[in-house]
Amino acid sequence: MSSTMTALVKAHAKKGLWEEQAPIPSIGPEDVLIRIRKTGICGTDMHIWNWDEWAQATVPVPLIIGHEFAGVIVEMGSQVQGLALGQRCSGEGHLIGKQSRQSRAGKFHLDPETRGIGVNEPGAFAEYLSLPAFNVVSLPDSISDDIGAILDPLGNAVHTALSFDLVGEDVLITGAGPIGIMAAAVARHAGARHIVITDINSKRLELAATVCDVVTVNTATEDLHEVKQRLGIKEGFDIGLEMSGNQLALDQMIDNLVMGGKLALLGIPSGKKPMDWSPVVFKAITIKGVYGREIFETWYKMIAMLENGLDVSKVITHQFQQADFEKGFDTMNSGQSGKVILDWT
Ligand code: NAD
Ligand code: ZN
Repeated sequence: MSSTMTALVKAHAKKGLWEEQAPIPSIGPEDVLIRIRKTGICGTDMHIWNWDEWAQATVPVPLIIGHEFAGVIVEMGSQVQGLALGQRCSGEGHLIGKQSRQSRAGKFHLDPETRGIGVNEPGAFAEYLSLPAFNVVSLPDSISDDIGAILDPLGNAVHTALSFDLVGEDVLITGAGPIGIMAAAVARHAGARHIVITDINSKRLELAATVCDVVTVNTATEDLHEVKQRLGIKEGFDIGLEMSGNQLALDQMIDNLVMGGKLALLGIPSGKKPMDWSPVVFKAITIKGVYGREIFETWYKMIAMLENGLDVSKVITHQFQQADFEKGFDTMNSGQSGKVILDWT
């Protein structure tokens, strides 16, 4: 094995990414070395590519970026147990501390010291990734490398969609990005009644309709209240999943929820936005913020659902060789794609 590897590096504090040779990471006694096979490009990676305010304030330069991956274990630290060389895997990209109250209570996803691979620490857009064995999630044969590479965002969708009991309930999802679309598929799989997804991008809504059985609404041209009436939803949606980060979508969401409705917020607003809290109070709405995935309950649930018929494969619309990464990022920036996969094999 040579001592260097190809990696996509945020090498300069400006727009773009640079393909560079980097040292193959060394591993500690409790880490594994993963040979990366497939990676997914995330909205977060686009922020880093575009070098917006958030990225400038958050990401150290230089840094190998990327956090959505599938690969195979090729080296293990001396203390690693329960894993094997050759094991196909994905993994939790949030590196957690073990000191906080929540962590010690086993609620690892609520640890305030969390650091993200590809955001704060070296990431997965490389031939090799060093990861704590604790973070590794083994992949059954039934889950392909492509799906393995999108388990991180599917986990966001699963974590959000399963925040409230949605069996037999009417669900409104605002934002038909890859995560909103996958959340619709999860809600359908888990037994919701009507599932309505909104966007202002018709390409995204078309994609949603090919991935699962969902009612699509372009709120730039259609009235959500009329759609509700047509579906026979008399009082409002029982459950809301906000997956756009958009202020108008959030207002529409609250406007269309039932009295006592429940709302999970995954979408990240860009900066501080005015908010009319009165309807939240008068409709007695319960709001839950959702960050990342439950470690490792979300991973367990999503793999179980994938093994039991949940199919999100159509949300992957493009594949590029790693060397063509610029095409991948351009495709993502166009807003006309679903998930874009880079191939590192
Ligand atoms: P995305 O940007 O691909 O999708 C957002 C969608 O919202 C787009 O299709 C956009 O057209 C749509 N949208 C914009 N304005 C709208 C409006 N008024 N009404 C309805 N839809 C509208 O993002 P994604 O990768 O699918 O992620 C979804 C959201 O979740 C993003 O805000 C992302 O930043 C956030 N996110 C949060 C976490 C977390 O841990 N909380 C993790 C990953 C992503
Ligand atoms: Zn991601």
